[in-house]
Amino acid sequence: MDYELTGEQKEFRKNFRAFCEKEIAPRAGQVDSQSAFSFENLRRLAATGFLGMPFPEKYGGSQKPLLTCMIAWEELARACPSTFLSCGIGSSLAGILLNFFGTEDQKEKYLIGLIKGEKVGAFALSEPHCGSDMAALKTEGRKKRRAYRLNGAKSFVTNGPIADFVILIALTDPGAPLDQKMSAFIIEKDMPGFTAGPPLEKLGARGSPLSQITLKDCLVPEENLLAKEGGGYLCAARAKEFGRLGFAAYSLGVAHACLEESIKYAQSRMAFGRPIAHFQEVSFKIADMQMFVDTGRLLLYRAAWIMDQGLEASTDNSIAKLFISEAATWCAANAVQIHGGYGFLKEYKVERLYRDAKLGEIGEGTSEMQRMAIARSLLGEGF
Ligand SMILES: Cc1cc2nc3c(=O)[nH]c(=O)nc-3n(C[C@H](O)[C@H](O)[C@H](O)COP(=O)(O)OP(=O)(O)OC[C@H]3O[C@@H](n4cnc5c(N)ncnc54)[C@H](O)[C@@H]3O)c2cc1C
Repeated sequence: MDYELTGEQKEFRKNFRAFCEKEIAPRAGQVDSQSAFSFENLRRLAATGFLGMPFPEKYGGSQKPLLTCMIAWEELARACPSTFLSCGIGSSLAGILLNFFGTEDQKEKYLIGLIKGEKVGAFALSEPHCGSDMAALKTEGRKKRRAYRLNGAKSFVTNGPIADFVILIALTDPGAPLDQKMSAFIIEKDMPGFTAGPPLEKLGARGSPLSQITLKDCLVPEENLLAKEGGGYLCAARAKEFGRLGFAAYSLGVAHACLEESIKYAQSRMAFGRPIAHFQEVSFKIADMQMFVDTGRLLLYRAAWIMDQGLEASTDNSIAKLFISEAATWCAANAVQIHGGYGFLKEYKVERLYRDAKLGEIGEGTSEMQRMAIARSLLGEGF
């Protein structure tokens, strides 16, 4: 087993980290305090090729292995979790679905613009009454001649307020078995009957806009069906697979940033005549953070590597997401603790990281749902 990144991957990490530290991290506080998505960050990320990393060259991407993408995802999340949530998860997820299931026309129309940073995408599955329980969806799309008429509501759509198009899951055959009753649609923001609500106020990741979406007799032409009718479950499963990887990378970035802030502060803050790093209660917290970051990174890389081999990775994704997201909230809580009263002030980065960390345990399947998935893989369906 070879744990070493290739020379190219090491060089890529060095350069992409330098880019994030110079171009993205300095705006992270402002993005959070103003609850404002940074289109400037999007433009710069597009210019580095970040948005095209998982996609074929034919559409403007560079088709990097997922393992290399994870290096970039962690670094971006470390610099600005909000920017990563919108550009790395929200928009990329829409791109990943288009790449897997889209027709050539759909890829030309939507994927190329996404990779260039000219279009913003989103993925909408959760509804006001259900997030974990996908079988309880209510949004419906009824076929009428060459279009579908969609009615319903989606809650919690990352990028909802700024998205040019949304990949949305709706029931097309409510009486059919779960894996056949839903379909995925590409819905443009200007389609009549589509409304994105105002940005929702959030605890953390405040620079990544989130809204509800309502569909009232929204007519979607049949060429905007993604995959075939009844293929929505497969699209949602794919989105979850990549989404879990995305949230694992998000949490790893947050945990890594907490570790770095804690080291800096512990070495400079004096108490009882010496830097607080000299107190075992402080230094052991930092040691544990390093342990969580290292272990989390190994789990994330393992999951990405398995996916790169084209193998089934859903349990490994769940393990990575569960472990790293819970480790990140622990790291964030202890980073604040190490900063004492200053950790409670907006002026210090750990205050924001503490708020950002929590989302990792909720987005794209809560910790409880990940535990259920892992247990099911060990004990079988009917445990
Ligand atoms: C900032 C943010 C961005 C998001 N972005 C998107 C997005 O872009 N697209 C999208 O589709 N969704 C998005 N979501 C929604 C997110 O995926 C859901 O919030 C999440 O899946 C949980 O669903 P829920 O909120 O409906 O909670 P519920 O499913 O109602 O769960 C509530 C609680 O009950 C627990 N629970 C539920 N069922 C069980 C069970 N069987 N056993 C044990 N415990 C259970 C849950 O773990 C949780 O603790 C986003 C959410 C947030 C907060």
